[in-house]
Amino acid sequence: MLSTMQDVPLTVTRILVHGTLVHGDSKITTWTGTGEPQRRTFRETGLRAVQLANALRDELGVRRDDRVATLMWNNAEHVEAYLAIPAMGAILHTLNLRLPAEQLVWITKHAADRVVLVNGSLLPLLAPLLPGMESVEHVVVVGPGDTSLLDGCAPAVHEYESLIGDRPTTYDWPELDEREAAAMCYTSGTTGDPKGVLFSHRSIYLHSMQVNMAESMALTTSDTTLPVVPMFHVNAWGIPHAAFMSGINLLMPDRFLQPGPLAEMIEAERPTHAAAVPTIWQGLLGELTARPRDISSLASVVIGGSACPPALMEAYDKLGVRVCHAWGMTETSPLGSLAQTPPGLTPEQEWPYRISQGRFPAGVEARLAGPDGEFMPWDGEAAGELEVRGPWIAGAYYGGAGADPFRPEDKFSPDGWLRTGDVGTITPDGYLTLTDRAKDVIKSGGEWISSVELENHLMAHPEVAEAAVVAVPDDKWGERPLATVVLKEGSSATYESLRAFLAGRIAHWQLPERWAIIPAVPKTSVGKFDKKVIRKDYADGKLDVTKLS
Ligand code: AMP
Repeated sequence: MLSTMQDVPLTVTRILVHGTLVHGDSKITTWTGTGEPQRRTFRETGLRAVQLANALRDELGVRRDDRVATLMWNNAEHVEAYLAIPAMGAILHTLNLRLPAEQLVWITKHAADRVVLVNGSLLPLLAPLLPGMESVEHVVVVGPGDTSLLDGCAPAVHEYESLIGDRPTTYDWPELDEREAAAMCYTSGTTGDPKGVLFSHRSIYLHSMQVNMAESMALTTSDTTLPVVPMFHVNAWGIPHAAFMSGINLLMPDRFLQPGPLAEMIEAERPTHAAAVPTIWQGLLGELTARPRDISSLASVVIGGSACPPALMEAYDKLGVRVCHAWGMTETSPLGSLAQTPPGLTPEQEWPYRISQGRFPAGVEARLAGPDGEFMPWDGEAAGELEVRGPWIAGAYYGGAGADPFRPEDKFSPDGWLRTGDVGTITPDGYLTLTDRAKDVIKSGGEWISSVELENHLMAHPEVAEAAVVAVPDDKWGERPLATVVLKEGSSATYESLRAFLAGRIAHWQLPERWAIIPAVPKTSVGKFDKKVIRKDYADGKLDVTKLS
């Protein structure tokens, strides 16, 4: 028997209309560096989004299913694009501005983007790539920039404000099927070509509701959130959509992502919440130690994208900022799990929950696949590859123009679950602890060593700024850990002292023999440790490695 409920599609259009009308007074503040920040209400933003939709349709000929790309920082205009493009039935494609040039061109071609909205400050990046981006017919420049760079290399150039300026503030939004694609993102592609994930209107709507739940980020209209995580990194973890849905004020950092400006904007604009990968928080911590600022407004922050070192969490605790650890992937929209703790615990009892990757929400079903394909118990001990499914989890990748979606076997199980490539354990009450990426685990003489565990211990050393551990080939054991360490300024730590520090904390056989001090850990385009670069540098003999006996 079917229900008696109305079948109203869950769409981004609804988020746009609702946020504009009901939360019209909420604000988006965009940092401008030195001058007064740019301030817009949700009402203004919503109306400008309508004008943008009119301009894209009437002036640029954008139609249903057309891909419209953005190469933009986190700012109010990017939010306008986030809302307008899906609501008009087109697909928002956020381009990762830190990808290597050839990948950006490849992705744009693969997605067949017809239009690129680009921040003026990013024209030097885009202009030389445009001749290779064959599908692009229009470039819309947002904010000041040297448009002469586009001379001769762009098909048609428009200036954002004049394009949208006099357009109507009403739009006859199309009736959309909630399962239609609203936005797309490519995975950072550590192996092979990047893979496109198409988020549906329904998945974005449901994910936004989850983001705001008290069990997740617990944001309300009295909050101001600062998404430092870029809007091209899995939709800034869903925060802009979730904010517009519930009237949460946004503080947008634009291109000012260095520790100094971040500290300054937190002190000046007093956000209550923020979200970023660990490397950003590590950098900010260094800045706050060197030049203390008032960040007391920040009640809680979400750290995810790679494992949050417990020492980092402790350091922010001392500053009065509660860190909430979260796990996710491009394929999971990205909210997969989030470490809110059970009630009634002392800080000591809470700690193991807080440093875990967190608890799954109802929308994310999880299981652990063991080495022989059997499913492992949720007992907090048995490890396996995490597989997930749910309404905001990808079931396939985008196949390219006209082609069917594709489901590579290493990414999807025969019964359709997403194989995450992450290895870990789950407690009986549903808390996930990741021990490694499947490809980063160190397989030493038939035993597994967690590179993340070694890194976390090393980064708890008072003189270590960063540490990355990778597997390297070993004649006797198959693989052994290589510890690469970035020391804090003025440190006199030796390899022997670092190893002695580890010795009290991990089993003796796991202690690395090979060590290298490096100036900085190489990072991926979204600020994660790029271990493949370290492995390659080691293989090419570029690292100055000391082997302790
Ligand atoms: P991406 O799709 O680029 O965001 O990468 C997703 C991957 O980042 C996951 O599969 C994990 O390997 C890693 N990741 C994300 N969050 C965490 C976390 N909290 N702890 C450990 N790894 C994480």
